[in-house]
Amino acid sequence: MHTNGVDPREWLRSAGLRVTAPRIAVLNAVATQPHSDADAVAASVRDVLGSVSTQAVYDVLHACVRAGILRRIEPAGSAALYETRIGDNHHHLVCRGCGAVVDVDCAVGAAPCLEPSDDHGFVVDEAEVVFWGVCPICRSTER
Ligand SMILES: [Zn+2]
Ligand SMILES: [Zn+2]
Repeated sequence: MHTNGVDPREWLRSAGLRVTAPRIAVLNAVATQPHSDADAVAASVRDVLGSVSTQAVYDVLHACVRAGILRRIEPAGSAALYETRIGDNHHHLVCRGCGAVVDVDCAVGAAPCLEPSDDHGFVVDEAEVVFWGVCPICRSTER
């Protein structure tokens, strides 16, 4: 499922969540700026709605993650980041310099990394791979 480009009201309804102005604003903010942290989401929600508490934004983010319409990733050393691209098991490139995050599709075929060589009896539904490196912008300023 790829939620980009669809009305956030539909995502909320399909997840059985009540449609509210803060929820719509949060989903729009994350759709526009994927891999935003809660502070960045709160800032753009305030641009739209005026005063909204950071706690209210956290509550919306958590509800949407729980309902499966937002994905949360937590690269080591970074705040939790949110995105609307969900359920496709894509991975992330993260820059050690500036923290830039870029989506990368799963390496080959559907989702081979969902099949561990030994699953130890777990039912696996997600594999998270973070590729760490240095982005082109940081590489050019390093020189
Ligand atoms: Zn960088
Ligand atoms: Zn992503």
